[in-house]
Amino acid sequence: MRITVKQLFGIVPNEEIAEDWVEKMMWGADHEKLHCGHCGAMDTVQSKSGRPMEYRCRTC
Ligand SMILES: [Zn+2]
Repeated sequence: MRITVKQLFGIVPNEEIAEDWVEKMMWGADHEKLHCGHCGAMDTVQSKSGRPMEYRCRTC
């Protein structure tokens, strides 16, 4: 199932919660064990920017 952040606004009250929700769907709830939402690879890196959803998969 694919859902856009825009669609999510109809479900959750604000952008911060929506982004957190999407992030957990994409990368897993446990940030210690981030995995790629596309290929499931654990070899991911977190951006230094500190912005949400700034993870990168090295396999994809
Ligand atoms: Zn990947």
